[in-house]
Amino acid sequence: IFPGSVDAAGQRATLGVMGGGQLGRMFVHAAQRLGYFTAVLDPDAQSPAGLVSHHHIQTSYDDPAGLAQLAHLCQAITTEFENVPAPTLQTLAQTRPVAPGAAVVGIAQNRIAEKAHFAACADLSGVSCAPYAVLETPAQLRSVQAERADLLPGILKTARLGYDGKGQVRVKTAEELAAAWAELGGAACVLEKMLPLTAECSVLVARGWDGQVVSFAPQRNVHVDGILAVTHAYEGNMPVALADRARDAAIAIAHHLGYVGVLCVEFFVVEDGSEHGGLVVNEMAPRPHNSGHYTLDACDASQFDLQVHAMASLPLPQPRQHSPAIMLNLLGDVWFDAEGQLHEPDWQAVLSLPGTHLHLYGKADARAGRKMGHLTITGPDVTSVKTVARRAASLLN
Ligand code: ADP
Ligand code: MG
Repeated sequence: IFPGSVDAAGQRATLGVMGGGQLGRMFVHAAQRLGYFTAVLDPDAQSPAGLVSHHHIQTSYDDPAGLAQLAHLCQAITTEFENVPAPTLQTLAQTRPVAPGAAVVGIAQNRIAEKAHFAACADLSGVSCAPYAVLETPAQLRSVQAERADLLPGILKTARLGYDGKGQVRVKTAEELAAAWAELGGAACVLEKMLPLTAECSVLVARGWDGQVVSFAPQRNVHVDGILAVTHAYEGNMPVALADRARDAAIAIAHHLGYVGVLCVEFFVVEDGSEHGGLVVNEMAPRPHNSGHYTLDACDASQFDLQVHAMASLPLPQPRQHSPAIMLNLLGDVWFDAEGQLHEPDWQAVLSLPGTHLHLYGKADARAGRKMGHLTITGPDVTSVKTVARRAASLLN
């Protein structure tokens, strides 16, 4: 699907995205830069991507008329939002190429299926996930309580709809496990052993319809209260041997899924000497990811460019990172002072620091924990990037 093409009915080449959040917005920017028209489906009139797209279809994700309109307007469709109902993607796929496909999105939407997939390709990927048990029935709860003391202390995670640490409870004892499961409404869950993490990292890969794969180097991520706070993307951000293993594992996972599009795989780095050989696969996101935002400013092709190329069957360029980078997430908290009063951050001071790239998502109201934007710092060397990142962070706190 070439960006300049016009079909017999006079319609311009248009790419569609399910979901209008910031990931959709940055996708739209990338698609438009190449010359595509864009369409966003999101019920919110003020959605960040809807605000900048040629077309904004304001319906719910499963509205038949909205989906028909999206399929009519677009030559290919992607998703930016993990919880788009998988059957919806199936419907769209009857008439249009959809990347990633319904089946893989369905796996990534469910921790039970996701972990089963990781286990199924552990031999290929060389990496396993944390020890876990599935918890769907009271009988399973009783048997986990009786037989899986090895999983405690652990984290109980809902199988569906968890993100940014939501839908998770940390438990130390069998009694706490029962209480936590009740607290989560008895929903399908996994209980995962708490591991001694020394670091977390993620890998972005893009795979085309023809099976070609390109990837970015692993980035190291720091989470605060379950939400990504900082991404370190430069040589030396983690031991080379671990980085190579993580990248190889992510590629194997993408191939094994028959994935098309950009996939982000998150890993834990655990204390040496553990049975996991230092690396454990945590979860995957079937889309560009917050931890890959630095690629917009530090690489010659961003994760969003690769998403456009993959879905439109354009050649996939192997991206090259030209600058070391640190990304700081800008949560709504930055808009509140110590007294809890709303104020605009001091952009004048932040932007006068060298190598700062500000991305705001166009969200009108700042709320604690809400992702409002991010700041990427690039520079000639790692030391200067770290110095500027520290100054920027102190201006923003
Ligand atoms: P989410 O979907 O909310 O991102 P994750 O499974 O990635 O859920 O968990 C969020 C964070 O909680 C992780 O980034 C990590 O810091 C911590 N965490 C999750 N599982 C474990 C574990 N098994 N051991 C130690 N820390 C964990
Ligand atoms: Mg996560």
